[in-house]
Amino acid sequence: MKPRPSFPAKLPPAGGQSAASLSPQAAQINPRPTTGQGTRQGRVNSAAGPASPSGLGLDSGAVRARMVAKLAEQGVQDPWVLQAMGQVERHRFVETALAGQAYEDTSLPIGLGQTISKPNVVARMIELLRQDSPGKLGRVLEIGTGCGYQAAVLSLLASEVYSIERLRGLHEKAKKNLLPFRLPNVHLMLGDGMLGFPKGAPYAGIISAAGGDEVPSVWLDQLAVGARLVAPTVTASGHQALVVIRRTATGFDRQVLEAVHFVPLKSGIA
Ligand code: SAH
Repeated sequence: MKPRPSFPAKLPPAGGQSAASLSPQAAQINPRPTTGQGTRQGRVNSAAGPASPSGLGLDSGAVRARMVAKLAEQGVQDPWVLQAMGQVERHRFVETALAGQAYEDTSLPIGLGQTISKPNVVARMIELLRQDSPGKLGRVLEIGTGCGYQAAVLSLLASEVYSIERLRGLHEKAKKNLLPFRLPNVHLMLGDGMLGFPKGAPYAGIISAAGGDEVPSVWLDQLAVGARLVAPTVTASGHQALVVIRRTATGFDRQVLEAVHFVPLKSGIA
């Protein structure tokens, strides 16, 4: 039987120490700092291929630690988010030719005209999603799986991740990318995310990686009371901005934050 990777109930403040990376080999290693007891859970996956693509050296941990330090400098404060960003091997989600740029603060093409958001935007959005949450989130819905990177980051911060993608080619790519990580709490679906995913509702968080003209009302219906939705949306000014909506006991609070540039939210499957 395959043991579930565990995750610390409480994280140390990120900063300096590097946690075990979320790599195909390390997906089953408990990142909690050891107190002398063994930290390894289960067995290391030996069929996962090389540790790093060429150009990144044998250990990409140092370059990821630099990325995390930069995220902190840019204002990301949530230690859970910083630690998760430090753990997931982003270079495994992009084409080999782009792997050298995987830890730069830049968006990168992932095929079919879509892009993986830059690390700063991924971290910022997840920080907004987690705002005021003392620990791990419950079930989270991600619209726009893309290459699966953000789903992997979310898998460390939520009990279950439901991620939906409308493009079959990217859905398949994400499945392939995520397979060696063995993340039993990530559920990938091919479908139209504009309809949400009612089976997993209510969600402790909804995050969209594609921007629409408005936030579909079914997303709001599928949000738990107290939960947040973070989505790039065209605002009254005609430009796309990050919109955060929190469901309260009596309604919804809406905040419009900074301008962003996301790929469009489209309906239907292709
Ligand atoms: N989170 C992704 C980013 C992908 S880019 C990552 O880490 O790689 C946004 C994605 O949203 C694209 O793959 C696009 O195809 C997808 N998308 C756009 N509209 C969608 C919809 N209605 N339902 C599901 N996915 C959608």
